[in-house]
This record gives sequence, C-alpha cells and structure tokens, in this order.
Amino acid sequence: MTDFIERLLELAVQIQQIASPTFEEKMRAEFVCDRFIEEGLKDVSMDSVHNVYARLPGVRNSKPLIVSAHMDTVFPSGTSLHVTREEDRIYGPGIGDNSIGVTALFGLIWMLRERKIQLQNDVWVVANVCEEGLGDLRGMKAVVDRFGENVKAYLVIEGLSLGHVYNRAIGVKRYRVTIKTAGGHSWSDYGQPSAVHEAAKLVTQIASLSVPAIPRTTLNVGKICGGTGINVLASEAAFELDLRSESPEALNGLVRPVEGMIRSANKKGVKMEFEVIGQRPAGEIAPTHPLIRLAEECLREQGIKAELTSGSTDANIPLSRGLPSTVLGVTTGSGAHTVHEYIEVGPVEKGMEQLVRFVSRV
Ligand SMILES: [Zn+2]
Repeated sequence: MTDFIERLLELAVQIQQIASPTFEEKMRAEFVCDRFIEEGLKDVSMDSVHNVYARLPGVRNSKPLIVSAHMDTVFPSGTSLHVTREEDRIYGPGIGDNSIGVTALFGLIWMLRERKIQLQNDVWVVANVCEEGLGDLRGMKAVVDRFGENVKAYLVIEGLSLGHVYNRAIGVKRYRVTIKTAGGHSWSDYGQPSAVHEAAKLVTQIASLSVPAIPRTTLNVGKICGGTGINVLASEAAFELDLRSESPEALNGLVRPVEGMIRSANKKGVKMEFEVIGQRPAGEIAPTHPLIRLAEECLREQGIKAELTSGSTDANIPLSRGLPSTVLGVTTGSGAHTVHEYIEVGPVEKGMEQLVRFVSRV
C-alpha cells in the first residue's frame, strides 16, 4: 500500500473516531476546520449550522465547483466506534458513510498539490451536516443557498458508492403520526378506544396501499411506539412513516391517500395528528449531460463500469433546483448504517484517481 493511501486511511479513522450524530456534528466540524486551516486553504469558515468551507483557488475567475461530503452519521452518541483493521478491510461504524468521504476532500487537496495540477476554476471543499435521518438535508440546503446557481456543478462524495454515478434524486416525505385517546383500564373501560389499537389499524391500512414498481415507489413504517402497560388502554401512540419515489408525481399519488387515511381516522374519542418531519425533493439530470458523461469517463479510465443510480442524498437539493449535480464514491464496502460497517481498502486508490480526474476536468 502506498504512503498516500496509508495516510488517507489514518485520517479516515481519526475522523470516524469523533462521534458525529446528525445535529451533533460540531466536534467533527471543528476537527475538519482546523485541518483545513493547517492545509493552508483559503477562506476557511464554519457557518451557523456547522458546515465547514474552504477554497482551492483556480487560475480563472469563473464559476466554482462545489465538492461536498457529509459529516453526520446515523449512530447515536454513546455508540462504540471501535475500529478493526484487517489486511484489506477496515471495520467501524461510519467509516464508509461517510468518514472516508470527508477524508477524500483532503485526499483531493493532497493529490492536486503533489501533481501540481493548476485548477482552472475555484474548487470549494465543504464538509456538511445533516444528511442522515431527520437532518432533512439542512446542511446541504445552506450550502446551495450560499452558492446558488452561480456554480459549475455540485459534486457530492459518498464513501461507499464507488462505481455509481447518481443522476436521479429520490423524493422522500416523512411523517410522525400521533394518536391520542382518553385511555383507561383494559377491563373496566373495555370498549373505549385505545391509541395502540387505533395506531395498529391505521398502520395496517397504510401498509396495504399498493405502490408502483415503476417508477420505484416505497413506503415504510419504521418506528412505532405507545402505551404504558399491558392492562392499560393506551392514551397515546405514535409512528413514523417514510414515503419515497423516483417520481414526484408518484410520491404525490401516495401522499394524498396516506394523509386522507390519517385524517379520516379521527373519530369520537380518537385524535389523530400528523406532522411532516422530513421532505427531500426529487430531481434529475439527463444521462447525456456533460457532467454525467465526465463522471462515467473518469470511472471507465479506472477500469470500473459506471452505473447510473438513483438515491436520496445531499444531491437532492441541487438537483431539485435544476442545478447540475452528481454523487461519486471513494471505495466499496458494506453494512452502512449498522455497527458492522466496513470499507474495502483496495479500491480507494482508483476511487481517489477517479475523483481527482473529475475535479480537475469539470
Ligand atoms: Zn452518506
């Protein structure tokens, strides 16, 4: 393994070791910010949501390329971040999604310098917050609000996506549904409504909705809770629902009946309420767009077949605003969002080569 790869992997583990749950990225952000300053980058700053920015100057004063990687992880604070290193793998929660992605920002800086590549346009490297869970892409929204349309493109780095070129952003709408009743004793008040029973009925109803396979559309109740004891008529229950689709129309086609079902589940003694807790807009860029062609070419040059992919990532924000954007990976691996997550060490070199070529040619 080259010294360069070894140095990258060490940094990836250093970043991975700093807990960074969504909304609690500040420590990791400060680490990245300090490292950007140490690298001598221009215009290093942290915004109010803890996105960290730095600029690599180009020779021309034209539109910049924005290269971002999210810092947050799905792991709540307190999760063991223990790392195990094997010959060709590194195991550790968040190592691939997205510590290696954040590390790739540094890898790019090092490679550009070592090869004395003169950038034509400014490149902004951005380590952003709130990509996962209920973050609702708050970090990327702030990034795109800052740079807007006046950019060459937005490149989003996702650690484990090597071989994929994202050109479609999946639309997502998420709800928290709350059910309230007067509650009571399971024996003496029998017949009165229970929030748990009402929640279960509504979940069954929603889960039985049929969704199209093309465009791919899904629904999931990923969390349900409620009640206080086995012999109590529950006075409160709640569940969280995630709806997704490749097509904005198909997503709306699902939103309407779901919201209708929730509303009509209100009846005497049962209060159903919902709150939208996440919304990621859909969008896409043509497979023939020069940005997508370039991404495919940079992969092909590494002997990797590029696969056009749809996903729900930070790229949803620029794509939904009609701005050129794609997602590229650094390596392969598995177990993302689980404590068994790992990255493959072997492909990192090609992944970085793909990225540096993309960034210097865009
Ligand atoms: Zn990710």
